Amino acid sequence: MEKHDFNPESLMMTYGYKPELSEGAVKCPIFQTSTFVFQTAEEGKAFFELAYGLREKSPKEELGLIYSRINNPNLEILENRLCLWDTSEDCAVFESGMSAISTVLLEFLKPGDLLVYSNPLYGGTDHFIHHFLSKIGVHTLGIMPNQDIDDITRMITNSGKADQLAMIYLETPANPTNDIVDIQMFVEIARQFSTKDKKTLVAVDNTYMGPLWQHPLQCGADLVLYSATKYIGGHSDLIAGAVLGAAELMLRVKTLRTFLGNMVSPHTAWLMLRSLETLKVRMDQQTSNAQIVANFLNRHPKVKHVYYLGLLKENSKAFSIYKKQCTAPGAMVSFDIEGGEKEAFTFLNHLRLMKLAVSLGSTESLAEHPKSMTHAGVDPEQCKKMNITDQLVRLSIGVEHPDDLVWDLEQALAKV
Ligand SMILES: *Cc1c(COP(=O)(O)O)cnc(C)c1O
Repeated sequence: MEKHDFNPESLMMTYGYKPELSEGAVKCPIFQTSTFVFQTAEEGKAFFELAYGLREKSPKEELGLIYSRINNPNLEILENRLCLWDTSEDCAVFESGMSAISTVLLEFLKPGDLLVYSNPLYGGTDHFIHHFLSKIGVHTLGIMPNQDIDDITRMITNSGKADQLAMIYLETPANPTNDIVDIQMFVEIARQFSTKDKKTLVAVDNTYMGPLWQHPLQCGADLVLYSATKYIGGHSDLIAGAVLGAAELMLRVKTLRTFLGNMVSPHTAWLMLRSLETLKVRMDQQTSNAQIVANFLNRHPKVKHVYYLGLLKENSKAFSIYKKQCTAPGAMVSFDIEGGEKEAFTFLNHLRLMKLAVSLGSTESLAEHPKSMTHAGVDPEQCKKMNITDQLVRLSIGVEHPDDLVWDLEQALAKV
């Protein structure tokens, strides 16, 4: 037989799981155990030597199972399967997206360092940067989506902290307006500010697109982060996070995770293994529904503007970035309603199928009002600059029949 490389969606049911190690069970059981039995004391000693880096791994040797804060089969199989989507060397799963993000920032930043980040950021990330990192003496510099490379390079140089630029942290497309930035451009900026003994890392929160529609590691980023609560979990029934990247960086991330103890639980990891089996079909259906919804809203007289990657003007800068780094427009559709908060709330209160809730990427469609909900903590001046106004409504489109979604939007808009 010729060699054949299977696509990730074909491997999500089986990859990394050996039935013969689990009584032949076709499905991976939940390894609901805190600790693992060593066959001999010598084996226990050998496992710990590897876990604590006391000696080099011999070829073919693998770290044995020790204790579920360090390793557990559900977590390892899940991490191996997530690596397939992003073609990454290694992955670490966390108990939330925020714990994945905060662990990465804590591991790679120290007092005195400079962190450059894109605006807008997820509210929790924004809070961690401005209220925690600044408290421990990390300097921060925010970039707006429309700034070009010369502008950004000048800002970094003028900050007087260019020598300490340790990380560039991006979120693209950004929540809630689908603003996008060019990952390769920031990789180039990071290269310019790297020195022989200090590499400036680029980390990308890929929650809005991934792991299907955008692959930051292939654009040259060093780390990719997820709130796995969103598309990866996909059923609004768990909270989790993930980080992926080269083995050398992931060893540092996993070591800090061992000591913070913020790994995901075996049960939640098992739920995600189940979710990954349908990831591709869910996300395909979601993005196809979202395009139908966006087209409908775009023609509606009570809708002023639709923020959706599938509606970008072909001659815009955003469109060329989108074409370069995304493979689909995603399932997040935001729009400005004619009027203000009153009109937006009337619309939200009359939805019959879509649920009024925050979060995104799940099988059911959700609607919310960013200015008064997810982005309530963001500086009002900053909100205005980023089009987060009283008129803005954010939709996360699920797997329902598109006719029912359009019907629901139409009847709720009629109430306004
Ligand atoms: C939800 C979200 C997070 C935080 O993830 P949790 O799983 O809620 O901790 C981070 N980034 C983005 C873009 C998100 O949407």
